[in-house]
Amino acid sequence: MKKKFETIAVRTRMRQTQEKEHSSPLHLTSSFTFDDAEHMRAAFSDEIEANIYSRFSNPSVKEFEDKIALLEGAEAAFATATGMAAVFASFMTFLKTGDHILSAREIFGSTHTLISKYLPKWGIEHSYFEMGKPKEIEKHIRKNTKMIFLETPSNPGLDMIDLEIVGKIAKKHKLIFNVDNCFATPYLQEPIKYGADLVVHSATKFIDGQGRVMGGVVAGKKEMIKEIYLFCRNTGPALSPFNAWVLSKSLETLAVRMEKHSENALAFAEWLSKNKEIESVKYPFLASHPQHAIAKKQMRAGGGVVTFIVKGGYERAKKFMDAMEMISISANLGDVKTIATHPASSTHSKLSEEERKAVGITSGSIRISVGLEHIDDIIGDVEQALRKSK
Ligand SMILES: *Cc1c(COP(=O)(O)O)cnc(C)c1O
Repeated sequence: MKKKFETIAVRTRMRQTQEKEHSSPLHLTSSFTFDDAEHMRAAFSDEIEANIYSRFSNPSVKEFEDKIALLEGAEAAFATATGMAAVFASFMTFLKTGDHILSAREIFGSTHTLISKYLPKWGIEHSYFEMGKPKEIEKHIRKNTKMIFLETPSNPGLDMIDLEIVGKIAKKHKLIFNVDNCFATPYLQEPIKYGADLVVHSATKFIDGQGRVMGGVVAGKKEMIKEIYLFCRNTGPALSPFNAWVLSKSLETLAVRMEKHSENALAFAEWLSKNKEIESVKYPFLASHPQHAIAKKQMRAGGGVVTFIVKGGYERAKKFMDAMEMISISANLGDVKTIATHPASSTHSKLSEEERKAVGITSGSIRISVGLEHIDDIIGDVEQALRKSK
């Protein structure tokens, strides 16, 4: 019988050493040794599977990759130093000069910059589609389109798209379907089930879950991950064994953490939607979310991020941020600690008001990554900050 998610996350591990340790050890080593010259030759010529050098592979990194592959329902995975390194590797391994990438407009800021500023330097074309209009995707497909890329739910707008619809379009046109599954994590959503070829993650967020280390990972079919591995082996964005060791332990608690993040976030979103100081609230599992049915179809729960618009615009939003006593002001998300961001004055300050609107951000938008403190204390802090900032 196939083991359940929680069991895979806890029980998948590297082989025990002769010490019989219960918890996987940290293999903090840059290289590995060989019995003799012949052994080394065989390793380098791929005749045997062996660790050579930690830029290529490392047992602590491998344990993390194996867990992610199993949890995503993928054949294989390759881990990288950051989420952006994973996104970059997934693009550069499969795109070449003359190709076209079709991406959702509502994506992470650095991914947007990578697509619109750097890919053109290598002659890779791009265009964007709107998350709310999956039926229009086909209109954007060109002869040279190679990949469809999207994030669902998106950061920070929490827009969603039906993965099954996009999966079918990708299959019909023989395109690589690449999904950033950072906000949902494999516990809440499995894009491969709906036809995704590649799943990328910033492991820095909910996968670490405690705001300690950076990391990224790409999961998919064996042959595709092999290509990504070869690209990374020769370009160098390897995940450090220490970070991999931390992330592998983090996965053991991912299911319980995501359940609690989602429970707190839903309670918080419901409370916000009844508050008179709030213009609007967005959360995948609130019935008022325009794509609520999609969330219910493809996600196990709504995740840990809530966005809302406070009445009073830019000035009120900044005052609100300053009035919080417990909640951290930070750019990160997916931490046990609740974090608030005001995108218009920080992560999205370089965009014009119009551009911000296009990705669903207004001057009064606040993004809250709901942590694992007691829900009464999270709501209490927001309540007093709303009062003080009036
Ligand atoms: C943070 C983030 C990334 C980038 O990950 P890093 O680990 O910061 O490099 C990519 N996609 C999404 C959706 C993110 O939130």
